[in-house]
Amino acid sequence: MTLPLRPELEGLEPYGAPQLDVQARLNVNENPYSPPAAVVDAISSAVQRVGHQLNRYPDRDFVELRADLARYLARESHVDFLEPDNVWAANGSNEVMLHLHQAFGGPGRTTLSFAPTYSMYPEYARDTVTEYVTLPRQEDFSISVPDAVAAIAEHQPTLVLLASPNNPTGTALPLDATREICAAASAVPGGCVVVVDEAYAEFRREGVPSAATLLPELPNLAVSRTMSKAFALAGGRLGYLAASKQLIDCLRVVRLPYHLSTVTQAMARAALAHSSQLQAQVAEIRAERDDTVEWLEAQGYTVATTDANFALFGPFADRERVFTDLVDRGVLIRVVGPEGWLRVSIGTPQEMALFRSALMEVTA
Ligand code: PMP
Repeated sequence: MTLPLRPELEGLEPYGAPQLDVQARLNVNENPYSPPAAVVDAISSAVQRVGHQLNRYPDRDFVELRADLARYLARESHVDFLEPDNVWAANGSNEVMLHLHQAFGGPGRTTLSFAPTYSMYPEYARDTVTEYVTLPRQEDFSISVPDAVAAIAEHQPTLVLLASPNNPTGTALPLDATREICAAASAVPGGCVVVVDEAYAEFRREGVPSAATLLPELPNLAVSRTMSKAFALAGGRLGYLAASKQLIDCLRVVRLPYHLSTVTQAMARAALAHSSQLQAQVAEIRAERDDTVEWLEAQGYTVATTDANFALFGPFADRERVFTDLVDRGVLIRVVGPEGWLRVSIGTPQEMALFRSALMEVTA
């Protein structure tokens, strides 16, 4: 049968890392700790309470969830100006990013980002027929602000995507860089939205601020977050975004009606009511991350400076071999980033001990 597949999709594989049942799954930057039993109970009761209304469509505008998210983000990033109208949410920050592209991308338009970065960025662009342009990051994976400003003037993008901390490198973006990039973007005729993707924000080191603090001064800034990482809720699928009400109103136009199910809304609200219990191990993960970096460096590897729950390290002459030999020992990490580098997500102390011993074995 001939299917009228868009020619640019011909022969493409769906995006996704291997989902293998091994001892240490350290390949998709999940939180290694299950939600605590008390939170699981709270989520189950919340879902049970809405069971009788599942014959009805959910609240399309998820007003209460937006209020809870605004309160959480205000507390977490020490800001006092967030209202429910400044918040958007969807099924994972992946869907939030797709909404941004549906609203602000499209044929004849360009998304600009800085490689290496999150591998889904080109897919949001492709799926919305938006051109995707990247500028290389510097040797230390930081962004050259003068280069970024020049690229914005050259390509006139309608979207600039800045992951901070960046995946797969862990690099955080300084606030001054965000300010300058937003200023350059605001000079694009017709406008340009700068998205700081803070999926891993809660893992940032002491003293590293969130771009959310800049929202009142930068009207073209949007800050994206997720409950998939620090909240230990990747399976719950809830990502969100803070921005001006005007920007959020644009996203409301492109969302499918009822995109956040009643079950999702109940789950997320129950989780937000227990955010500190859900994030109880974030400090531990950060400490384990710093220990992992220190250990890798002591082994002679170069490790990218990381504010996330993963570390990019190398170089390896044959990273594919190291990857498969680690899988053989029950350790699943990720072949990603520039040639020669590997990325490991931070797991439990037991998982990291297994990672260390397996890595020593396969590189002996
Ligand atoms: N942004 C970045 C930088 C990510 O690494 C990820 C997940 N790996 C996401 C967004 C999407 O996460 P989710 O859809 O689970 O919120």
